[in-house]
Amino acid sequence: MTGHSEGSIVRELQDKSNLPVGYSVVRGRRKTMAVHVRHQAVEVRVPFYVSQTQIQDFVYTHIPWILRKLEHKAAQDSQRPDLCDGGTVYYKARALRVRLIPAMSENVEITDTEMRLHGRGLTPERASKVLQRWLLAQARTVLPPRAEALAAYLQVAGRLKEVVFRKTKSKWGHCTSTGRIQFNWLIMMAPDAVIDYMICHEVGHLVHMNHSPKFWALVESVCPDYRRYVRWLRTHEHRLWL
Ligand SMILES: [Zn+2]
Repeated sequence: MTGHSEGSIVRELQDKSNLPVGYSVVRGRRKTMAVHVRHQAVEVRVPFYVSQTQIQDFVYTHIPWILRKLEHKAAQDSQRPDLCDGGTVYYKARALRVRLIPAMSENVEITDTEMRLHGRGLTPERASKVLQRWLLAQARTVLPPRAEALAAYLQVAGRLKEVVFRKTKSKWGHCTSTGRIQFNWLIMMAPDAVIDYMICHEVGHLVHMNHSPKFWALVESVCPDYRRYVRWLRTHEHRLWL
């Protein structure tokens, strides 16, 4: 994921103009106008030369779209993991009830209906730490051997230098040209098939360092249903975000 690449930018905050929230205007070196909705903020990106009236007209014609987007984002926010006792967390495509259980040592227990987080003085923040340490331990156990096995199968074992773990803002995985694969441990919240797809994707980059048709053909050869998993992530990834 890359940010927008306008040169110098000018930010102006606008009035509401029939929207439930204000919007900001970002002027930059670009040819067309575009509107973006991120969380509950609306941003309009425009070329330097357009007038206030043009911007207002542009926003006005996009109000139904903006309102739909804001509603969608609000719905997504309401589905984010809630680690209060009695809250809901989406784990491997199942909505589980969260139970915070006082205990001397940390542990995570998954039943058919519950995610039981054990630990001392658990607040939602501490519970998140307990859960993330557990997910990281799972990631360390599961991901490197699978990545290595797939790299060997694709005859690029020599290119895989290391598998590391990092929680980044926007990525589930990453592969550098030096053969370093990075996984976000939150992916362990996803169904196993989606985890396998992520492994195929990143190991596939050891063969093709791009997202060309050849790369996707390779992914498909080892993960025939990959389109389903890409779609699953697009639809549900906000629910895994701790
Ligand atoms: Zn990629």
